[in-house]
Amino acid sequence: MVKGLVKNALIGSGALRWLARRRGKSVAILMYHSVLEEPTRVTDSLGGIALSTQAFQSQMEVLAREFHPIDIEQAGRFVREEGELPERAVVVTFDDGYTDNYEVAMPILNRVGVPATFYVTVDCVERRSLPWPSRLRFAFRTTGKKMWLDEVGKSWSLSSVEDREKTYLSACDQFCKLAGPTLEAEVGRAENELEAKLPDTTGQLMMTWEQVKALEKNGHIVGSHTMTHPNLAFLKLEDLRNELNTSKQTMEKHLGTSIGHFSYPCPALFPNWTQQTTEESKRAGYRTAVTTNDGVVRKSDNPLELKRVRPTRTADGLRWNLESSFAGAV
Ligand SMILES: [Zn+2]
Repeated sequence: MVKGLVKNALIGSGALRWLARRRGKSVAILMYHSVLEEPTRVTDSLGGIALSTQAFQSQMEVLAREFHPIDIEQAGRFVREEGELPERAVVVTFDDGYTDNYEVAMPILNRVGVPATFYVTVDCVERRSLPWPSRLRFAFRTTGKKMWLDEVGKSWSLSSVEDREKTYLSACDQFCKLAGPTLEAEVGRAENELEAKLPDTTGQLMMTWEQVKALEKNGHIVGSHTMTHPNLAFLKLEDLRNELNTSKQTMEKHLGTSIGHFSYPCPALFPNWTQQTTEESKRAGYRTAVTTNDGVVRKSDNPLELKRVRPTRTADGLRWNLESSFAGAV
């Protein structure tokens, strides 16, 4: 780990910018999920993916002031060698489709003039329910039960916080290979057995189609994050195609616009996409797809496997992640 003072000195010296220029043009695609006034209130469901409003605002101010925010279309044209990039180009993206993207993040983005892309989990918007890993996390963290039987009949202890976390992660490893109604049935079974279902009101944490539409009206881009948030690398071909195609068609029906961008979910297990996944996304008609692989995007990278830069809690952390990623020093 490089310490804060050293990081600031490295940024201040211009050495990273010099390295970045030598490496040629690149774009950093940032990955966000949720932005909330009090992120700790949702830890039992969303885990640690929510960022505070204040931190998000200062990060967006840094982007607007010190970098060049562009949209995912321009990043796509750059990797396909159909267009150029400004220096220090960044793209802001959001996964999952939380209501706070519309209510909290969009006003900040609009104010500082940063365009963003929002990838929506279609079933979660349709049914107004949280993505399944959040539902399961809540069930395992809050259940009064002392043990749980998994789908092959193995018994798991829920006595301590550590046991619960271990059981939750193991359940995720099993469930992420499922999709559609089978996945929903298994998650529902676990919620019932654990007698710990998220209250229906938490559905309000997911956007409505009207809100998704409003993002587009404000000049932002929306894309698909599948129907049911499975691990695409472990699905049967039929399920994979359904996640790619049906989510695209459903979004197009509701929004009346063409959907050309995709984000591969990353629930448990590695990898979360394969060459087959990227070939099928192309076949489904997507122009770009983002992954959770870490790094910046360089010319002639595959537009269906774009890397992203991981989130951080502070504006200084963001500046360091971007400067070091552009310099190829990560
Ligand atoms: Zn996701």
